[in-house]
Order: sequence, then C-alpha cells, then structure tokens
Amino acid sequence: MAFDSLTEKLQNVFRNLRSKGRLTEDDVKEAMKEIKRALLAADVNFKVVKGFIKNVQERAIGQDVMNGLNPGQMVIKIVNEELIALMGSETTEIKLQPGSAITVIMMAGLQGAGKTTTTAKLAGKYKLKGKKPLLVACDVYRPAAIKQLQVNGEKQGVEVFSMGDSHRPADIARAALEHARKNGNNLVILDTAGRLHIDEDMMAELQEIKETVEVHQTILVIDAMTGQDAVNVAEEFNQKIGIDGVIVTKLDGDTRGGAALSVKAVTGKPILYVGMGEKLSDLEQFYPDRMASRILGMGDVLTLIEKAGAEIDEEKAKEMTRKMKKNQFDFDDFLESTKQMKKMGGLSGIMSMLPGMGAMGGLGGKKGMQLDDSQAEEAEKKMARMEAMIYSMTPAERRDPDLLNPSRKHRIAKGAGVDISEVNRMVKQFNEMKKMMKMIGKGGKKGKFRLPF
Ligand code: GDP
Repeated sequence: MAFDSLTEKLQNVFRNLRSKGRLTEDDVKEAMKEIKRALLAADVNFKVVKGFIKNVQERAIGQDVMNGLNPGQMVIKIVNEELIALMGSETTEIKLQPGSAITVIMMAGLQGAGKTTTTAKLAGKYKLKGKKPLLVACDVYRPAAIKQLQVNGEKQGVEVFSMGDSHRPADIARAALEHARKNGNNLVILDTAGRLHIDEDMMAELQEIKETVEVHQTILVIDAMTGQDAVNVAEEFNQKIGIDGVIVTKLDGDTRGGAALSVKAVTGKPILYVGMGEKLSDLEQFYPDRMASRILGMGDVLTLIEKAGAEIDEEKAKEMTRKMKKNQFDFDDFLESTKQMKKMGGLSGIMSMLPGMGAMGGLGGKKGMQLDDSQAEEAEKKMARMEAMIYSMTPAERRDPDLLNPSRKHRIAKGAGVDISEVNRMVKQFNEMKKMMKMIGKGGKKGKFRLPF
C-alpha cells in the first residue's frame, strides 16, 4: 500500500537511533534531516514537513529524552505522537441529522478522483448502519456517470435517483429530496460533476446546489495519486465552497500517500474515510493513530480485526464465537476460518497489517513479528498441509479431536502425505490455539468474531 517506501526509510532512521544507546544533539539533528527527506519524498507538503520536523526536534532534544534510558525509542514515540496529531488526532464521523431527519451529503471533487465510486461505497457503509440512502446522479456531463452510479447503487442494494442529463443539477437535487421525503430515505448523497481542473463553472454549480437544497455535509474526494496537487485542490475547494471533510482515495497501490498526511494541516478539515481499492467494500474509516502505526510499520491490527468482522458471514461468525467461548471449536471450524482468511487476501495480505517491526517491540507494548515474503510463503505452505491433514480426518474426528489415537493419527498422516510427528504437532498446536481462543473469546464483544491466531 501507500507509504511502503516511507515506512522503510523511517525504519532505517529508527534502527540507527536505537543502535546508539545515548544520543547526542547531532544524532537527533541528523535523524531529523533523514525523516524530513523521507517525508518530502512521500510527497508531503513542504510547509507541513517543516512544522512537523520542528515539533519533533524540539521535543526530542529536550532534556528528558536525551538523558532517558532509551532515547532512540523515545524519539520513535515522539514521531508517532506527532504523526497522529498531524492527521487530526481523532476520528471524525460524518455528522448526521438527529433522529429520522434527512441528512443531505454533497460529494465534490475533480473528475476521476473517485467520487462516484466513493458515493456508492459510503452508501453501503450507511446502509449497514441502518440508514436508507438515496444516491442522486447530479453529474450530467460525464456520459457514463449516471450509468456507473446506477450499476454501483444496484450492487449495494441502494436506490439511485436520476433525471437524465438534461436538467440542472440543482433542480435534480431538489426533486431528489422531494422523492426522499415521500419514499422514507433518510440519507441523500449527491454525486456531483467533476472537471479536469477547478473552474468557475464547477464551483458555481456546487454553489447553486447548496443554495437550492440544504446540504448538511460537503465532502471532498481527493485522489492520493495526485500527491500535492490533491492538497491544493482541497484548499481551493474549502475556500470557495466550504467543505466539512475529505475522503482520500487510492491509498492502496504504490501511491506515495503524502496527501493523507498533509490535508488536515493545510485545510484544517479532517479525513473521514480512505479508499483502499476499487471494490465497493474498500473504504475504511480513518483513524489517525492506526494510520500512524501503519506508516511506522507497527501494523494495524484493529482494522484487520474489523475487516474480518465485516467480510465473514455474520451467522458463521456468531457460531464460531459461541463455540470458542464454550471451548467447542473443532477442526471443521478451523477449516472454515482458513477459508475466511483466504477471502481476506491470504496470510500475506493479513501480514501486511500485522505489526511488522520486531525491532520496535516495547513501543506502546506492540511487539511485532517480522515476516518477509519467503516466511509468509512458508507459513502458507504450512497451512496448506494442515488443511490436507484435516481433510484426511473423518467427520467424527474433525468434530472431536479427542478421538485421535495413535492409529488414527497414522492413517491421517498417510492420507495427507506427511510425517506422523507433523500430525502430533498440529493436534498439540490446535489444542493450544483452542485454549487461547477461549481466553480471547471471553474478553471479546458479544457476537464479534475474533481472529483465531
Ligand atoms: P469520479 O470521476 O470522481 O466519479 O471517479 P470514479 O468514481 O469514476 O473513479 C475513477 C477511477 O478510480 C475508477 O476506475 C475507480 O474504480 C477508481 N477508484 C476509485 N476509488 C479508488 C480507490 O480507493 N482505489 C483504487 N485503486 N481505485 C479507485
């Protein structure tokens, strides 16, 4: 994902600092220079970088840090805290109108930023939260926009309101609101037209919509791939029409990601969500602290757990949680959980979100494991062998691992083409995992799936 190169560079700086034990002022200054270079290379706005480095340096050269027991780690801690502050510290929710009142959200942005896709993604999120969204096709210029919204709306099971391309967007918005009132929609999301560049016509059109219907939230969609330009666009939109929040798209892939780091500092407006892919489920709420963890390579375990919760069949998840709590988790459930893991992009996909910095253990108590590609591959192979062993069991054995006496284990080893010692190891590991799950299950929220590893 974005930030890979930034993460790598920061990790190098930190490794250097940690290897030093005591730090001199020059050590800190040198590290700050490297962090500055890394941030600029990630396309973070120059002024933002300057301010950031100043803050970190001031704190890092303070007496407490330099004389502390572990100055390298203290610097990492400061960078982490300043990154979180830079991105706005707290998660900002889209403000909805109270009760059953209709909330009107206007989506704005340049053409190709991901507005139409994000509109459908948002609708899906709010539908899950119990809202009844209505998507409104106000982009009357891009020929395929209306169709695209309809197709995506249908995929999300959300109604789309359109009047073709021969009405003024403000009139369409007014008619859509009328429709929403009659139809019981309590969230109206207007997908407006973008242009290749900011121009007067586009701003005038958005203004006209705002004057015609009461817009409660104006959300700007910016494309992370356009780097600093995205942030300039955000500033200009904010000055001209006023925005309430930003959604940064395309943070997946190898974008440099600087926009996500700069936009709050430049515009004063928070990032609400980030787009992490083309699929309609690829929209994540924005948590400054989790993003800082990802950037520093400490992983984002919480988002991973939520993802597991969202993509796993609700009923199956409940059943699994129930079984975990009662210590009844069996090999069939194990197979099911490996299937779910594959849905989430396999082990390596999951690994990218797990704490990746063994070297940083001790910071905030997040001890990480370091898995490179070949280790991830090895782990996948191991899992495939485990699956083979489970498939060699009878249904009764899968349900009741206690049945596994030595002769049954021999049969399973033969069936799966592995050594009996491997079967023994797996059964032992399985029992240990069960114990762990029972503990986690007890602490977990009701009905919420927890990862069984
Ligand atoms: P609009 O002109 O602003 O309405 O942009 P679209 O919604 O049509 O999106 C433009 C392109 O960007 C489409 O191909 C989308 O699939 C793609 N896109 C949108 N959001 C994301 C994202 O978060 N990640 C990736 N990889 N692609 C995205």
